[in-house]
Amino acid sequence: MKILVTGGAGFIGSAVIRHIINDTEDQVVNLDKLTYAGNLENLESVSDSSRYAFEQVDICDRAELERVFEVHQPDLVMHLAAESHVDRSIDGPAAFIETNIVGTYQLLEVAKKYWQALESERKTQFRFHHVSTDEVYGDLPHPNEQVDALEHLFTETTPYAPSSPYSASKASSDHLVRAWQRTYGLPTLITNCSNNYGPYHFPEKLVPHIILNALQGKPLPVYGAGDQIRDWLYVEDHARALYLVVTQGAIGETYNIGGHNERQNIDVIHTLCDCLQEFMPREGGYRTLIQHVTDRPGHDRRYAIDASKMAQSLGWAPTESFESGMAKTVQWYLENQQWWRRVLSGEYSLTRLGSNQTV
Ligand code: NAD
Repeated sequence: MKILVTGGAGFIGSAVIRHIINDTEDQVVNLDKLTYAGNLENLESVSDSSRYAFEQVDICDRAELERVFEVHQPDLVMHLAAESHVDRSIDGPAAFIETNIVGTYQLLEVAKKYWQALESERKTQFRFHHVSTDEVYGDLPHPNEQVDALEHLFTETTPYAPSSPYSASKASSDHLVRAWQRTYGLPTLITNCSNNYGPYHFPEKLVPHIILNALQGKPLPVYGAGDQIRDWLYVEDHARALYLVVTQGAIGETYNIGGHNERQNIDVIHTLCDCLQEFMPREGGYRTLIQHVTDRPGHDRRYAIDASKMAQSLGWAPTESFESGMAKTVQWYLENQQWWRRVLSGEYSLTRLGSNQTV
């Protein structure tokens, strides 16, 4: 199989590509614009493989997308390219509308034309997998406000109610994908996943931000009281789930992916501080660096995923517990200081490894 992965230089996309190259026989074409979030150093361990190719392309550029499909002739598409940071979407929504909505539309159109022209066996095999977030569902009751709150989980049929420009743009793209399946018969699948964490996570996101600030003795900012609840999943468990869905999932289906690890943000920060204290003790500990800051506008109170469909229909289960995954993540940042120092200094954006190889 040849798999076209969009957004493969990002956090989750690079985990997907490392999984495909290391654990399968498949070939990968990584299509990425290399925005600030795209870092080819995430793929250093696999970019020499003869089964890997890179194309620096914007998903909004239809002519370039057509060229990539024509040259590489993919069997499967895994669409992860997106603007992904909620805070950035509040300050500047335009890029989110452009990439997440218009870019997904362009990709769907090119994939549709390509799929329609395939000969019968390859046409039956083709899949377009759209990778999305649980944030499209809005938020759930919080145990501080409702006694039975924890009984409420997002399922595949939960109505959409996005709160931020980011989640609204992802919700829009999910709707487009469903419409292209229903109207044109494009064989699509959608996954909606909870918060990921793990190696190669861009430092603007909560987990790496806290680890790196702590290591540098800087304040650890916590939005509001820090009682917002998220469901945490180790990124390599997500990557395995995505590969299962694109290769074995049923066309037209949606799958929710989550770790069954609901934690308040403040508990995540405490766990990270305690892991750091174990691996690299600091006088007085790291918790003393915590500082509460004004909450994000429209901040969702709680997300939690019911991932039972993934378990029952595809036999998937996460391998990392919250504690083991967080400990592994802290250890990774301690052992890979060069990676994050190059990201913080901006040097990473000058690297262009393995570009435009062909498979
Ligand atoms: P990321 O920001 O780390 O990576 C996004 C990648 O997309 C980058 O490599 C970037 O260069 C690329 N990109 C952005 N705009 C592009 C464009 N116009 N054309 C081509 N490439 C472009 O994001 P991530 O955290 O790896 O998330 C990947 C996907 O998974 C996103 O669709 C996101 O919505 C979804 N998701 C993320 C999480 C999470 O916790 N991070 C959870 C659920 C779903």
